Amino acid sequence: MKKTTLAYLKKDDKFLLIHKNKKDDENKNKYLGIGGKCFFNESIVECLKREVKEESNFEIENYKFLGKINFYYNNELEIIYLYLVDKFSGELKKECDEGSLNFYSKTEIKKLKMWESDKYFINYVLKGKEFKELEIRYENSVLVEVKHNEKIIYSFSEEICKKLMKKNKDNEIPIRAIVVYKNKIISSSTNLKESKNNCLYHAEMIVINKALKKLKNKYLEECDLYVNLEPCMMCAGAIIQSRIKNLYFISKNSKAGFAISNFNIEENKAVHHKIKVHQVSKYNHTNSKLLKDFFKNKR
Ligand SMILES: [Zn+2]
Repeated sequence: MKKTTLAYLKKDDKFLLIHKNKKDDENKNKYLGIGGKCFFNESIVECLKREVKEESNFEIENYKFLGKINFYYNNELEIIYLYLVDKFSGELKKECDEGSLNFYSKTEIKKLKMWESDKYFINYVLKGKEFKELEIRYENSVLVEVKHNEKIIYSFSEEICKKLMKKNKDNEIPIRAIVVYKNKIISSSTNLKESKNNCLYHAEMIVINKALKKLKNKYLEECDLYVNLEPCMMCAGAIIQSRIKNLYFISKNSKAGFAISNFNIEENKAVHHKIKVHQVSKYNHTNSKLLKDFFKNKR
């Protein structure tokens, strides 16, 4: 596990940032505070002072600890100690090995290209407020989860679920499914039973077929399927056969659902391939209303 420090130096309401333009890495072209990896035998504060000196040439005179960030990048943990430095001396070195340095105002900072997750702490930096602890997770270079003091404040799967709840044109029931591969949407569809005049055109069946074609594969072992209503018997069968890794759904279907209600995909011994089932209940209310309204209007 890597320990690093990250410091934002403040002067006349402006903040010092590095524009990373040298290295061809994950940070390329992004704007960041100043910092780096702690050496063995070095304390966090020693690292903070050394990094600031090395990169900007400033000597730290006063600093405030804002919080700790547990930063997971593709399962590798880096602990970032975040500081606001409000008093320092020396002459700024405009260029360093990592990029060019400049002071930016708060309005400018909000327009700069940063890591997507930086928005969860940058306001604390600008206000000089402590946030205690953040947990940030990236998978396949995509931000998947942010927790602030153990409470989830951003979740990739919840964002996908939000996309499922849309009204449909025509007579089509508002059921929508999405297949995600390596944190990217590769297929998405609504039910097409009415427009295709075919009872097999459930959203899940369509997205599974599309995803198989797209990946040119027999199975979807590395894929997750999202749907707003618990799948029926046919779709549960297709999910099992296609070896979907994770199934996410919003609302339970106690009458006809075959993921947990009338059949348990995770526990049933007839299912040889392990599929994890997740109910994202956060949107259950909104989703149930969407479905109820559809049937109410139909009658
Ligand atoms: Zn179905």
